[in-house]
Amino acid sequence: MTSSSSEFRQENTIGAGAIGHPRQLYLLFFTEMWERFSFYGMKALLLAYMVMELGFAEEKGYAILGAYAALVYTMPVFGGMLADRLLGGQKAVLFGGILMSAGHIVLALPVGWSFYTGLALIICGNGFFKPNISTMVGGLYEDNDPRKDSAFSIFYMGINVGAALGGAACGWVAHAWSWHAGFGLAGVFMILGTVVFNAGRKSLGTVGLPPSPGRLKEKWGGLIRNDLAVYMLTLMTIPVIIALFNRHQVMDVVMLVLGVASLFYLFYEAFRMEAEGRNKLLAATFLISFSVLFWAFYEQNAGSLNLFAIRNVDMMVGGTELPALSVNNFIPPAWVIVLSSVFAWLWLWLSRRGWEPGTPVKFALSFVFVGIGFLTFFLGTEMAAAGKIPLPVFVAGYFFIICGELCISPIGLSMVTKLSPRHMVGLIMGIWFLASALGEFVSAKIGALMAVPAEVVNDAEASLPYYAGILQQIGYISIGIGAGLFLFTPLLRRWMGNIR
Ligand code: GLN
Repeated sequence: MTSSSSEFRQENTIGAGAIGHPRQLYLLFFTEMWERFSFYGMKALLLAYMVMELGFAEEKGYAILGAYAALVYTMPVFGGMLADRLLGGQKAVLFGGILMSAGHIVLALPVGWSFYTGLALIICGNGFFKPNISTMVGGLYEDNDPRKDSAFSIFYMGINVGAALGGAACGWVAHAWSWHAGFGLAGVFMILGTVVFNAGRKSLGTVGLPPSPGRLKEKWGGLIRNDLAVYMLTLMTIPVIIALFNRHQVMDVVMLVLGVASLFYLFYEAFRMEAEGRNKLLAATFLISFSVLFWAFYEQNAGSLNLFAIRNVDMMVGGTELPALSVNNFIPPAWVIVLSSVFAWLWLWLSRRGWEPGTPVKFALSFVFVGIGFLTFFLGTEMAAAGKIPLPVFVAGYFFIICGELCISPIGLSMVTKLSPRHMVGLIMGIWFLASALGEFVSAKIGALMAVPAEVVNDAEASLPYYAGILQQIGYISIGIGAGLFLFTPLLRRWMGNIR
């Protein structure tokens, strides 16, 4: 770290807000909150829009959703690397924000070409935005600053406040007005987030500045400035992504290659190290690989459960019909907001008594919780009246699923920072996101198993069985994986050494 950034951090410690965090945290909080508002607001509509408005066969809808979700979480590997080496976080977030705003506005246009182009812009934008805004949160603190964990909890709260508001608002606007108005609303908030970030970014001081300003201005291949070259090359990937959507079958190969290559790379790095570092990296690799399966089950939320909520959940409350997409996309982040402080307190309470489970046990628990959540949905299908499950049962299923999220998502982020060798933390964080990309890809394949034939989409009793059996199977398989993972905890504990 440079001495100027040390000074910067000190100044901001002195000028900390009422609860002891530098005010820049709130700039990053609000920027990420509005970005996630638009990201999840749009994602809430995506599958239903393809199936109900564009007339895609359900299987194709799932394939495009899978391709989108996979690419949107693959790009952070590159966006993170380019920011580390050239752009710095500030420029990367700004560029990402501009691309994402453009993407959402394009999606709001009711013209034929807008759909894949809008998605491609969002995919590229997220690659620059998502990893780097989180890195800048970390950059506000010294590594051993005790406020760092709480800063990430506050930031995770921002993510979920945005997600809850975005899912509810965009779902409602799409329901009450039009799909394109829903996408447009997402765009308005993405622009707001980008403008807010740009207005406040000077206050970040040296955090997120380019590592070597001179290199930005150097000419790439003797032709154009390095930074402009990055922007141009990014824009040039947009037609490639559109081509991938048009030939979405290719994504199977792309994701398989990316997954296998990352695994080989992690093994290669691990076996170059001495025993202690190797074992830690092997433990991280093992747990990251399992997280793929977690996201594969969890992400039914953005896929099959959107259509399930529309078709098979009783949305009547006090004589009013709630918009199903809003409900399905509001409940999970709302549970995160409610439960994250409960979990923070619980871990602390357990650790005071020496009972806090280690990371591998928490990972195993996350599968058990998700399994119970899906079995709750299944129970709902058994209780259904006229093909509709009671809303409280749907909400209760998500309660368990979110308990699962809180045992893996924040725990995984911190696990990556603890088990990776210092010089590889950024890259392994990228691979953590890549694991969720793979998981979301698999999730869409599982969702496709619940595709409902066109003849029965408007008949709740007839569509219910297409969901019930698969929801039950996900429940049992997830609990089985959790139980299997428990068996590996002694080995993982040995590999992790002094890390819990
Ligand atoms: N829901 C979290 C977010 O949006 C985690 C997503 C993930 O890791 N795939 O940041």
